[in-house]
Order: sequence, then C-alpha cells, then structure tokens
Amino acid sequence: MKQRHVARVVVMLVLVLGAAGSRASAQPSSSSPIDPAVIDDLVAANRILATEGILDGLGHVSVRHPGNPGRYLIARSLAPALVTAADIMEYDLDSNPIDQRGRTMFIERFIHGEVYKARPDVQAVIHSHSPTVIPFSISQTPLRPVFNGAAFLSPSAPVFEIRRAAGMTDGLIRDGALGKALAGVLGDRAVALMRGHGNVVVGSAVQVAVYRAVYTELNARLQLQAIALGGPLTYLAPEEADKINAQSGPEAPGVVRSWELWKRKALGVRP
Ligand SMILES: [Zn+2]
Repeated sequence: MKQRHVARVVVMLVLVLGAAGSRASAQPSSSSPIDPAVIDDLVAANRILATEGILDGLGHVSVRHPGNPGRYLIARSLAPALVTAADIMEYDLDSNPIDQRGRTMFIERFIHGEVYKARPDVQAVIHSHSPTVIPFSISQTPLRPVFNGAAFLSPSAPVFEIRRAAGMTDGLIRDGALGKALAGVLGDRAVALMRGHGNVVVGSAVQVAVYRAVYTELNARLQLQAIALGGPLTYLAPEEADKINAQSGPEAPGVVRSWELWKRKALGVRP
C-alpha cells in the first residue's frame, strides 16, 4: 500500500516537472511573463536582418524585457536566419543568463547589456558587421547622412576604437568593461561604428532599430557612390535632420511600412 503511494507521488512529480520543462522550452524562464508578440517580433527582426543582408552567420539583435528593464532577450548563439522562439534566452544587464540550460551564448552579448544600462530610452540593440559600413570605421571619412532616410546618423556616426580602451585585442567585446567603453562612445546616438569590426545600432523599439540598421548600410553605400562622383558633397544639415528625427518612433510611416514589407519577405508570407 505504502509502496503504491510512493509510486503515485513519483509519477505526479515527473508529470509536474515535465510540464514545467515543456513550458520553459517555449519561453525563456523569466521573473515576469513575456507577451508572445514580443518574442515573435524579435524572431522576425533576426530573420529580416539576415534577409536584408545586415547580419550573416554572425551578429545579433536583442530587446529589453518588456516587464523588467533590468533584463534583455536575445537568441542563443545561432545564425540569425535560423532563430525561432524556442532559441530566445533571458539575461540580466551584466549579461549573465537567467536560465542557461546548457545553451551556448554569444561572446559579444556584453554590447547589449551595457548599452541597456547606459541608455534607459533604448528598447532594442543590434550588433552587425554590416559590410559597407566597415570602410568608414577604418577611414578618416565620417559616416554622415546622405539622405533623409538616414537622418538618425546626424551629424555623423562616432567610431569606437577598441585600442583606446584595451590596447591590442582580437577586437571582440568580450566583457562588461569593453561593452561599457563602447556604450560610452555611442553616447546618446543611434549608431556607433566599431573600428575594423562593424557597428552597434539602437532604437526605441525593435522595428526602429531594424529600420536604422538597414538604412545605415544603405547610407554607407550611397555615401561611397557620392564620394566617387567627386566634388564637395551636400549632406543633410543638422537642422534638417532634427526635423526628420522629430517623427522617428515605431509609429513613423516609413518604419511601419518597411517593417511590414521586410517581415513578409523574411518570413515567406506573400502580401
Ligand atoms: Zn562582432
């Protein structure tokens, strides 16, 4: 009789633990529940940035936890084109995993944690090796807004020189100190270049950060073409940029329309 009771308790425990396990694989273990739409948008952002050529096998995008500003959400170490909802992990702002469960982590996740610490206004962070941007990170020519779609670059994108922070390194943001130094160079801006490496792009929403990442790459391409034409160039004036940037939230028509189009392209849904 007693043995049967013990067996029943064991079975119940297995069922309870099993249910907890399957819930945890659908969503990151978290102190507060996460709206599935937030995870879906983060997955879409990964796919869009891969489809639009901003991220390849490398690079990453995160969002701040909607219910806990001291946490952020980002995929396990995985190519962005392959990310699904089950791959999303939760971190504190020192970039410690909340529930690692053996999953590998991005080495450069400290970029995200330190930017969220320094910028309470930021809700999404992208680190990419956006190819056309890299030449500007090693040259004396600053990346400046060529057209109104990239007014957020005004007056020019600052460049993070890792040698100034840590001497000769492999160039990767491997710890919180390097992430903090990078966030310091970013300051209150939308984009900072990383010398010989890539960039970091931030936004007040994941849709805004994605828009900026795509348009930073496009602006770099257009600026190189304009430089090839020669002669003095007329960039956006800071006063013009201010007027454009006054309507640059997630509800801006350019952001809404682009996000919808890119999402459909990236997720394979026909308009
Ligand atoms: Zn990198």
